[in-house]
Amino acid sequence: MQKNMSEIKKMEKIVGVKGMNDLLPPDSALWELFENTVQSVLKSYGFQQIRTPILESTPLFARGLGEVTDIVEKEMYSFEDAMNGDKLTLRPEGTAGVVRSAIEHNLVYDGPKRLWYSGPMFRHEKPQRGRYRQFHQVGAEALGFSGPDIDAELIAMCQRLWDDLGLKNVRLELNSIGDAQERNVHRAALIEYFEKNKDLLDSEALRRLYSNPLRILDTKNPAMQEMVNQAPKLLDFLGSESLAHFDGVQRILRDNSIPFSINSRLVRGMDYYNRTVFEWVTDQLGSQGTVCAGGRYDALFSIFGGKPTPACGFAMGIERLLELMKESGEHHSPALCDVYLVHQGAAAQAKSFVLAERLRDAGLDVVLHCAASSGVGSFKSQMKKADSSGAAYAVILGDDEIAQEVASIKFLRSDTTEQNQMSVSLDGVVDFLVDQMLNAADDTCCDDPTHHHIHH
Ligand code: ATP
Ligand code: MG
Repeated sequence: MQKNMSEIKKMEKIVGVKGMNDLLPPDSALWELFENTVQSVLKSYGFQQIRTPILESTPLFARGLGEVTDIVEKEMYSFEDAMNGDKLTLRPEGTAGVVRSAIEHNLVYDGPKRLWYSGPMFRHEKPQRGRYRQFHQVGAEALGFSGPDIDAELIAMCQRLWDDLGLKNVRLELNSIGDAQERNVHRAALIEYFEKNKDLLDSEALRRLYSNPLRILDTKNPAMQEMVNQAPKLLDFLGSESLAHFDGVQRILRDNSIPFSINSRLVRGMDYYNRTVFEWVTDQLGSQGTVCAGGRYDALFSIFGGKPTPACGFAMGIERLLELMKESGEHHSPALCDVYLVHQGAAAQAKSFVLAERLRDAGLDVVLHCAASSGVGSFKSQMKKADSSGAAYAVILGDDEIAQEVASIKFLRSDTTEQNQMSVSLDGVVDFLVDQMLNAADDTCCDDPTHHHIHH
């Protein structure tokens, strides 16, 4: 046994996979706040949750995203199932899976559906700030809707979310990329223009010149900006139907005071988009400034062999939004608990376990001080833990308290120095603290959803 232990100590430390992060407290609490806010905003628009598997068959993405996208070309985690040779891919995005599922289960048989999802996505990218190999998205997909109203609703929903999260520096960029036929005519003009400027194209642009020239507009190469700015604009190639749809989206946004700017170079990385495309961007995150991207994808159902179904959606990057929330400085780590219970002596320890359960029965969040490898520690060290827990109250049980059948209650957040500790009979502790909490809740503003633990 001794020998084994020392052998284990010498072993190399195992570390996580590059570009895949652990979510740790207190960030996990902020993440929870984000998810709760998203859920309530989505619910207020009638969106329902869908959960699809993280693994899908590789052809789903190859076909759905288009062979010449960054994702399919070089970012997918694809492998063969060692058991049966199936070609599988860790999902790089959520839309393909949702649409696959909608077709498989005929989800739109009785009319359009508003769906949302949340979860991890995987892309083999170069890890950097705001860019990871496992990252997380919340997405919404409105299936079976064709009008500009749903496009605008998705955008309004995002705006509401930013407002609820207290994010101020996110702006909306909007464009329309028309339909396939309009894009084809534009594409020809674009290729002609790029051919004329061939000496200015970098190697990536040259590679895309005939396969996906639209994406060249998306280039981040500073040397190409000037030339790309002068390129034929897709907007000038839109027919009357596409233009009317685009005008419709803009009109609703204006009617509802949602500011936007039109970015004629805005295109999407995925081939299945048409008409409306939009991005929410911020200057506060360095070069990874897009926090949400979306648009219309009327062709995708057909690409997957389903009945033609118009649809529109978006996906937002949770890591980038969390970064923004931190930057806003508006969100503080919530307290671990309402009550921290400290104790000394065997009798007090037994009583405090029972008391902690009773307090939880009454709806309070309670942390009971439990023994570490060095035991429960002194009162003083326990009180330090109580303080740093953020709890409003410490409940103290020692030999004296047990003898007198009381608990000492210390007000850890009280401003007044007098009267910050008192005795309450053991039987009355639960009622006393419930009253205290209710009074405190009445006194504080009702904005913070973490407050109301107790319901009458
Ligand atoms: P980018 O141009 O930043 O690579 P993208 O066009 O690949 O973005 P989408 O596929 O539209 O991004 O995904 C929607 C959102 O998901 C992005 O706007 C971003 O917030 C987030 N996102 C995308 N890739 C990553 C990643 N590797 N790490 C973290 N967040 C990401
Ligand atoms: Mg990308």
